[in-house]
Amino acid sequence: MKNNILNRRQFLTKTGKAGIALATMPLVTKFMPTSPLYSAYEFTQQPLPYAYNALEPYIDAMTMEIHYTKHAATYAKNLGDACLAEKVDIGNTSLYSLLGSISKYTPKMRNNAGGHYNHELFWQIMKPSPSIAPSGALADAINKSFGSFADFQKAFGEAAKARFGSGWAWLLVKSDGSLAVSSTPNQDNPLMDVAEIKGFPLLGLDVWEHAYYLKYQNKRPDYINAWWNIVNWELVQKRYAEAIAK
Ligand code: MN
Repeated sequence: MKNNILNRRQFLTKTGKAGIALATMPLVTKFMPTSPLYSAYEFTQQPLPYAYNALEPYIDAMTMEIHYTKHAATYAKNLGDACLAEKVDIGNTSLYSLLGSISKYTPKMRNNAGGHYNHELFWQIMKPSPSIAPSGALADAINKSFGSFADFQKAFGEAAKARFGSGWAWLLVKSDGSLAVSSTPNQDNPLMDVAEIKGFPLLGLDVWEHAYYLKYQNKRPDYINAWWNIVNWELVQKRYAEAIAK
């Protein structure tokens, strides 16, 4: 996923909204992308970066195919419909800014803008045969925030297991640059102004049953444990570096 990240001052300058008090701006504006071409691109479903069976045995091919072609494709389509109905010009609106002011829109917009963003991120932050742990600045930050990588995995896994019903677990960077683990219901995410813990998501795990039920049935913890084998830490590290660079 492309991430041209912009700090708050640059955003205000570029958008001509410098008169708005900084304190009233959503925290996530510091992470907003710059390219106008990015906006239309980010509202449409992008090609899956690997084959449906590429993440086996951890995620089976049928789950991947249904998840990508049915569930995620529907979020993208319904997001387009909601943008038309609610007069959001996707050529001139960043998905980040939409998510950052999602409380102003309908539940349909909230569910599908979140659903689309979350799944586009999810496909990217997985890959076959990745490094099994982060390194560099992200590894240092994880150790500082959570004690160790194992302690981080435990906290993240607990958030994923404890999410009642459908939702997501997240590793995010807060506006002060620190890391946090959270979970959100339904298709909410930390970029939303309604999120309990706001920030820039580095890593997200889909814990809706549609993400794991064919292979794992009711055993969500087994899915969570298996998922660590396919986390694309190289990309997560890159997202972290971009998030803290500003
Ligand atoms: Mn899903």
